Amino acid sequence: MVKRRILIIDATTVLAMRIKVLLELLDCEVELLHFANLEVIEPNDYDMYILAHGIPMALACDLKQALSTCNVALLAPKAEQGEVFASFAELNKLFIEAQVIYPFYENKEISALLESILEIDGPQSIALPQVLHVSPHDSQAHIQQWLTGAHICVLGAHSLTQALEIANGTHIDILLCHYQVQGDSGSDVYLQVKRIQSHCRCILLINQGDKANLLEVIRSGVDDVIELPADQSIVLKSVHKAWQTELLKRNNAQLLERLQDTVDALIEKDSLLRVVFKNTPDAVILFARDGSLIDANDAAAKLLNLNQTELAKYTLFQFLSPSSEQNLLQTMRSTSSLNQHSCELEVQTSKRGLIPMVGSFSEIDYHGAIAYAVIFKNVTNLKERQVLLEEARDELEIRVKERTRELELAKDQAEAANRSKSEFLANMSHELRTPMHSILSFSRFGLDKLSNGETPIDKLSKYLNRIHTSGERLLSLLNNLLDLSKLDVGKFPFCPSRADVCKLIESSFTDVSGTAMEKHINIKLHDNDVNSHIDCDGAQITQVITNLLGNALKFSTEGSEIDIYLHEDGDNLGIQVVDHGVGIPENELEHVFDKFSQSSQTNRGAGGTGLGLAICREFVALHHGRIHAKQNPKGGTIIEISLPKVQQAQETQAPPHKPAE
Ligand code: ADP
Repeated sequence: MVKRRILIIDATTVLAMRIKVLLELLDCEVELLHFANLEVIEPNDYDMYILAHGIPMALACDLKQALSTCNVALLAPKAEQGEVFASFAELNKLFIEAQVIYPFYENKEISALLESILEIDGPQSIALPQVLHVSPHDSQAHIQQWLTGAHICVLGAHSLTQALEIANGTHIDILLCHYQVQGDSGSDVYLQVKRIQSHCRCILLINQGDKANLLEVIRSGVDDVIELPADQSIVLKSVHKAWQTELLKRNNAQLLERLQDTVDALIEKDSLLRVVFKNTPDAVILFARDGSLIDANDAAAKLLNLNQTELAKYTLFQFLSPSSEQNLLQTMRSTSSLNQHSCELEVQTSKRGLIPMVGSFSEIDYHGAIAYAVIFKNVTNLKERQVLLEEARDELEIRVKERTRELELAKDQAEAANRSKSEFLANMSHELRTPMHSILSFSRFGLDKLSNGETPIDKLSKYLNRIHTSGERLLSLLNNLLDLSKLDVGKFPFCPSRADVCKLIESSFTDVSGTAMEKHINIKLHDNDVNSHIDCDGAQITQVITNLLGNALKFSTEGSEIDIYLHEDGDNLGIQVVDHGVGIPENELEHVFDKFSQSSQTNRGAGGTGLGLAICREFVALHHGRIHAKQNPKGGTIIEISLPKVQQAQETQAPPHKPAE
């Protein structure tokens, strides 16, 4: 017979699984599909459609249309599940004619119901038996006619030998045999035929006088005994009864065989699932709505350090940190059989403390009640890796920021250098052009006078003086540039010897006295009676002081004062040059010592090249001293120098910048 095909559209209910097993026992081909995986549905693909509660109403409406001509049954939830039951009521209303299967039904009730829906016991064409009638003579031919009249195929024999011949060549279901057949007893004929056709049943026809031996006949295993003479109905009834018993036996055998196959398949599946459940490395826990543990695999027992019996005493909540408990409750509220949820949880273990986990939850129908299956995945390594990753990312961000800062700084420096260079070029051309212009102009004046035949000595000497001064200015500028380039490559001669700094300062006075007088500026030296004899390169220190005084004069107003103070500073001699001029802004005090740099107070039109202080700093550095600028609290600038009184012996003998003679 063709197998019935059933489709169960499910929402993870245990009842659906139970129905599947029962249908398989009824030899049906059953497909169990979660509604989310349902694609197109064709109405007559299956003999019956079973819809579990929990499928979405929208889908149910579609199915209602598609399955209007099909066998449909519904799986109900438990009545206690108020909310769920209410939604089921809607489904029931939609499929008003569908048979409802409730979870409280017993399996045999459900089987009977399914059988009736599928009409498994319905009208069938019953095959008729093949009968062998063994009679001593033809006097009983009417019996054969009765059977033939009832469409039963019947063969006749008059002796044991004939009966065995037929039995050897033809299938016999029922042997209809007389008590005595030509010297052989009916029970003997039956026993011998049965040896050939083991399933053959026997009805014995006896006469009145044979009744005494009836007990012995029954013992031989015959199914029925008919006393002759008998009418047609008695014979046909007996044949039908024997045939029905045989059919029942055969059906039972088939059923048993099917049952065994199904049980074997179930055992196989169950074992497989158990192996997977038991051996999966992730903890799998089944728990009820109140958190009580229903089942847990070995990995879960190991994780929680409890055996299976102990586990039953706990709720899942007892193993969670308070925040994780809240998290889980929230997840349970939002979980439905329509989908699955994951959340992060911290599981408290006796051996390893709190372990970060990710729990994947799915709601299931457990014997008609809501329960949850959760798979825990240990994410400690993942978390650690995440932390490392975040640290690395932070570090990278810091490095990128640092690098960006460095690059910005370098860019600023490059831009500043570029600006300085531009300013330098502008100043330099001014510095070069002014004396050069003066030289050319005064020489032209002199030449003009001479070509006119004039020789005014005083005028000519004035012109020559101007030419000389401008030449000196040019020379000093070129010297500065030369000094700096030598200092840059470390080739500037450094020749320290014992010298009196007071004397060096006084010689600088002479160098700048002209300008001082022009601007009516008084320069005072306050030696404070310190011992001003130190190891130094006299020419360099004089150049430094001259430079500082030159700047002080340049940036001071007429009639102001410039003071030079000497003081002892441990092993060093301190020199301060104090003026009351325009001053240097606080944030540029360092910067003015850079090459080609000028302060924002003075760089416009003040002339100069921005090289003087850079040279001063290099000279002081050759002496292992320090130089810096600060603001004069009374207005103006203070430049402070600190020089070691004694230069280290080896360095005085072999200074780092000693020139090649
Ligand atoms: P120059 O004077 O040739 O420009 P310097 O290196 O000697 O070069 O000085 C650099 C800059 O520092 C000057 O241009 C000026 O802006 C500033 N400066 C130096 N000394 C003083 C000072 N005593 N008062 C005000 N500004 C000064």
